[in-house]
This record gives sequence, C-alpha cells and structure tokens, in this order.
Amino acid sequence: MFKKILIANRSEIAVRVIRAAREMGIKTVAVYSDADRESRHVAMADEAVCIGPGPSKLSYLDQETVLSAAKITGTDAIHPGYGFLSENADFAEACAKRGFVFIGPPPAASRKLGFKSAGKAVALAANVPVVPGTKGDITTDVTKEVEAIGYPVLIKASAGGGGKGMRIVRQASELKSQLEAAATEAKASFGDGSVFIEKLLERPRHVEIQIAADQHGNVVAFPERDCTVQRRHQKLVEESPSPALTPEIRRDMQAAAIRLAKSAGYQNVGTVEFLFQDGKFYFIEVNARLQVEHPVTEAVAGVDLMELMIRIAAGEKLPFDQERASQIRCHAIEHRINAEDPDNGFMPCPGRIESLELPGGAGVRVDTHAYAGYTIPSYYDSMIAKLIITAEDRPKALRRSLRALGELKVGGVKTTAGMHAKVVAHPMFMGGDFDTHFIEKTKLLDKEAAHDRA
Ligand code: ADP
Repeated sequence: MFKKILIANRSEIAVRVIRAAREMGIKTVAVYSDADRESRHVAMADEAVCIGPGPSKLSYLDQETVLSAAKITGTDAIHPGYGFLSENADFAEACAKRGFVFIGPPPAASRKLGFKSAGKAVALAANVPVVPGTKGDITTDVTKEVEAIGYPVLIKASAGGGGKGMRIVRQASELKSQLEAAATEAKASFGDGSVFIEKLLERPRHVEIQIAADQHGNVVAFPERDCTVQRRHQKLVEESPSPALTPEIRRDMQAAAIRLAKSAGYQNVGTVEFLFQDGKFYFIEVNARLQVEHPVTEAVAGVDLMELMIRIAAGEKLPFDQERASQIRCHAIEHRINAEDPDNGFMPCPGRIESLELPGGAGVRVDTHAYAGYTIPSYYDSMIAKLIITAEDRPKALRRSLRALGELKVGGVKTTAGMHAKVVAHPMFMGGDFDTHFIEKTKLLDKEAAHDRA
C-alpha cells in the first residue's frame, strides 16, 4: 500500500481524500494556491505545498508544479479529485513517467472515453444503446443525416463538460449557422471545436451508474444515481435509488455499464451516464473519475468509494462481487450547497463565512471544507458543502432533508439551501415524477431566469 498520497485538488474533495487516506494509515500532502492558504484541506493534511497564485491555470492546473510538489515530498501516488487534472490523460501519463501512481483510470481508457463522440462509439460497439445521432464528429454536410434523426436535435461539443457547449436546433434552416456558432464556442471554451449532433430527448431523466473495476479484470456496477434535478444542465440534487427505475431496468443498465467498462479496458472508479425516457435508457457519456455525487452511492451500497479507488490503484482486487455491489441498503439524497445569492440571480457570492452551524443527527453527513471565519475565494466554483441524507425510504429521506436543510445556518454569505428546501417540498419532486426540466417547469428559480435575460 502507498505510504504517501498527494492530492492535486482543493475544497471538500481534498478533505474527502485526506479522511480516507488517514483511515488507511497513509500520509497526505495537500497542494494549495495563494488564495487557498486558509482552506481546511491545507490544515488537515500532514504536509502542504503552495503551488502558485489563485487562478487555477497558474496553480491547480499547472502539471509541472504539481509533479514537483510530489517529488519534493516523496509522494508515491497522486489523487486528482474531480475537475482540474482529473480527466487529463496526459497528466495521468506524466505521473506514471515520473514514478507516481495516478489514482484513476489508465490514460488509454480515459482517452477512449474522454471525448463524448468517441465514448458513444465505444458504447455502440459494446451493444449499449445510445441517443440516436451523427456518426462521430461532424466533418461534412450532415443535413440529410440530421433530417433522418429528426428535429429537434442537440449540437454537443465533444470536449464539452459542466453542462456547457450544447445548442438546440429545432429546424433545418438553423442548422448551418448553429453548427458554426457551436464549433467556434467549443474551440474557445474547451480548446477543441469538434461537435456532434444527437436527438433532443424532450423529457428525459438523468440516471447514471457508478462502476468500479480492478486491475484483474473484475468490474462491478452499483445502484443508480438519479441526477434529474438540474439547472443549466448542471446537477443540483442527486438521489438513489431512482424513483423511476424498475429492478429489471436497473439490472439492464448495470449490465450495459459493465459491458462498456470492460470493452474500454476501464480501471478504477467511473460513471456511465444515461438519459432515461419512456422506459428506455440511452448512453450519453462516461465520467472517468470520481464524481461530486459519489457519497449517494456510498450510502446506498454501503461502500467507501474513496478507499476503493486507492486500493484499486495499489493493485488490490475488488473486495466484493456484483451481487453485493448492487444491494440497496437505504434511500440517499445529496444536496449541493453553493455560496450564491438567490435574490441576485443566483450569482456566486464569495466572501467571509462569519458563522456556520452544520446539521447533524441520524442520517446526515456533511462534506465540506468550510468553517466559521473561512473566506470563500472568488477563483473557484461556488460549492461550499454537500449534505448527504440517508433514511430507510424516500418519504423519510425527504423529511430528513428538509429538517437538515433547516438546521444549516451560514452567516455572512448567501447560499442555495433555501432553494433545495423548495425543491424537496415541491409536490412534483415528492411524487417522483419529473424530468430534467423540473426547475423550469416549477418556476422555482424564476429570479435567476430574469437575471439571465438581463
Ligand atoms: P456535460 O458533460 O456537459 O455534463 P452531458 O452530455 O453529460 O454533458 O449532459 C448533461 C445534461 O444535458 C444531461 O444530464 C441532460 O440534462 C442534458 N442532455 C444531454 N444530452 C441530451 C439529449 N440528447 N437530449 C436531452 N437532454 C440532453
């Protein structure tokens, strides 16, 4: 087993890695930017190295500096967290070259799946249903192909992520101009202008399968996470099990995810994302990393995914089989709490947290790097905490969510906790019957819409 792990990340996920490592008797090295000196992950780690100024390009994304920090601290392995360098195959390769184990998938597998269009090709070859669309990235005139797919369609950036780089096209006359605009935007945002087209599903749910694969050919799939409640294609609330799946569909989805992982030579943990509509599921992409919402699966399946990642990277075999991995032990819901101002179009509101009261009690887990007196820097995303609620069934989990959200008191900055309470209390959410347009349909964030138009 490793003796020392460097965490190439910040915030709650860095804290999460430190906790798992400490439980395993592994020393940790935090890296931090100038803006993160006061962050909890820095104080918690055994050692900490400053890797540059606030902007991520000059610190958390600077591969050479991160690798130098690993070298001077005598690190064996590097955990990339999520975001930043986590899905960068070049970085994973550079780690191996310098003699550090990258705690994540092998570069070849992330390269195969990293581009959305390439991932879809792998899925098709593994007999996994995909959303109908163009074959690969668009290089020629696709008017006829799109006609056959049928409008409305969605233009997606192959290198896209974070819900960005998607455009709806409702009629043929808009196709050419929208394709050009999408390619220009993709190039500017993701450094790669490749785009492809897929059928726009009008009322899908987002349902994903967490998988784990060891270096010995064993792959398991856990119960699904339902991440249908989204804002601008970004997840807000995640739960497991999904109120929409039958045991048969769950099994089929898990089998599809395992087929895909095996055919891509995938190792370590990852997520196979699907859209689900009218009883059918369609692959959309693989996230070749641990995701923000992983604690939902940890609760439902009774597994420590962070420890599992570390053990897999160290060469250990999966400690359980598919039957054990797919057991559903409870209902779990995660709320992503962001420092945002609901009265000002949900603009991020960095600043000093003057006071902080965290919820607790049975079935409440809080993953956070925040504390009273902590100043949220403006350089990074606005998530300050995750509330993970568990209970024996969904109705009780919802009541517990409301109780815990009510207990959360953050002084000095505004948060999205109140919005989460509105989501949970909404009859449509309570009923379990909703799609990815839930937030628009319920008009829960209308102030935000007003801001977007302004
Ligand atoms: P990203 O990598 O940016 O998160 P994804 O491909 O995972 O992009 O899609 C994010 C969200 O966008 C999905 O959860 C869903 O809400 C919406 N979406 C993606 N593809 C489609 C589609 N073909 N039809 C309808 N909605 C879609």
